[in-house]
Amino acid sequence: MLENKTMTSEDLIKLEDKHGAHNYHPLPVVLAKGDGVHVWDAEGRKYYDFLSAYSAVNQGHCHPAIVGAMTKQAETLTLTSRAFYNDVLGPYEKFITEYFGFDKVLPMNTGAEAVETAIKLCRKWAYEKKGIDENKAQIIVCDNNFHGRTTTIVSFSNDPVANKNFGPYTPGFIRIPYNDLGELERALQGENIAGFLVEPIQGEAGVMVPDEGYIKGAKELCQKNGVLFIADEVQTGIGRTGALLRVCGDCSCGGHCEKQETYTEPDILILGKALSGGAYPVSAVLANDSVMEVIQPGQHGSTFGGNPVAGAVGVAALNVIRDEKLTQNARKLGEIFRDRMNQMIEKSNLVNLVRGRGLLNAIVINDSEDSSTAWDICVSLKDNGLLAKPTHGNIIRFAPPLVMTEEQLHDCCDIIERTIAEFEK
Ligand SMILES: *Cc1c(COP(=O)(O)O)cnc(C)c1O
Repeated sequence: MLENKTMTSEDLIKLEDKHGAHNYHPLPVVLAKGDGVHVWDAEGRKYYDFLSAYSAVNQGHCHPAIVGAMTKQAETLTLTSRAFYNDVLGPYEKFITEYFGFDKVLPMNTGAEAVETAIKLCRKWAYEKKGIDENKAQIIVCDNNFHGRTTTIVSFSNDPVANKNFGPYTPGFIRIPYNDLGELERALQGENIAGFLVEPIQGEAGVMVPDEGYIKGAKELCQKNGVLFIADEVQTGIGRTGALLRVCGDCSCGGHCEKQETYTEPDILILGKALSGGAYPVSAVLANDSVMEVIQPGQHGSTFGGNPVAGAVGVAALNVIRDEKLTQNARKLGEIFRDRMNQMIEKSNLVNLVRGRGLLNAIVINDSEDSSTAWDICVSLKDNGLLAKPTHGNIIRFAPPLVMTEEQLHDCCDIIERTIAEFEK
């Protein structure tokens, strides 16, 4: 039955509607195949993917090197649990820690699990290394954050859609405005502060790029106050913003140089999404020994975390980024994209601005947040062969796979311009 290719998109949408929980509101398109920057629907119509599964598919759909590594490992050994060693995990751990420049990694599966891991690590460090009284640790977070969907993570969200009626909320978090070093400095004077958890660009909030110097300044303030600087790069990491990590700043080396002046080293780095190129759930928490050593046997874990398939996929996915120079490509194409959008905006009454770094960008529609204009534009973009999704009402995020060519990008900009023009009054 799952092989039944005679079902239409309409049938398939009805099936999800009837049998699946309604926890998403998808664009009405049913995808059946992906390759590189393209996806095809159940009727065989071809689209440019301008979401990349929320930046998980940075390496492009079904990258042969990643799929090859995954299937080869899946035929050999899939899961041992961490009750035993496996012959992929050690080499993967060596590879990823050298790749990002940390002593150790703690492997998990999803982004939210990795954020939870970072929170646990930070709290334990605070009690055992910093000497905060048990159960008193506070972690500073930012307004409009998005770190995932667990009960603890939604506890410190200020989005009512994410947390209303999911209480009681986990205590131990203080929320401050994003992109405000003065507020951070004030909050750091509070009692029992253990960490500052931050997205170097807020993706879900609408690709909010902080001021130059914010990340570096935040780390310096944390360091001065003996507080862990925790970077959630689940969305911004792994080439997406035109640097290997957003904490690399505007270093254009692709992230494999000796640490540059622009680099801000997080005490804890959280990765997910593109760590697998979208092939498999793979996430990771990286830290140096002085922090990671507080976690001892039995104190944290995951049945699937660090499994052999994940290790093989992680290595392949990171090699693709390096070998194909996708970071550099994201940087170059991002500049072209924002140039093209700015040219369009000059003539537009409908689009206010474009912002972003590398290939993580958004345009803001000149309409109220509760209008359906952005949604309607995305439906039209789909009809014109490009898939994107609104975030926060009047913002449309544009984040294609990083394997895009310049020619394809211009083709996509033409589609966006043409579609927006249909909506100009
Ligand atoms: C997507 C995302 C997460 C959560 O990852 P999941 O794999 O969906 O649990 C956490 N942080 C950021 C910044 C994200 O974009």
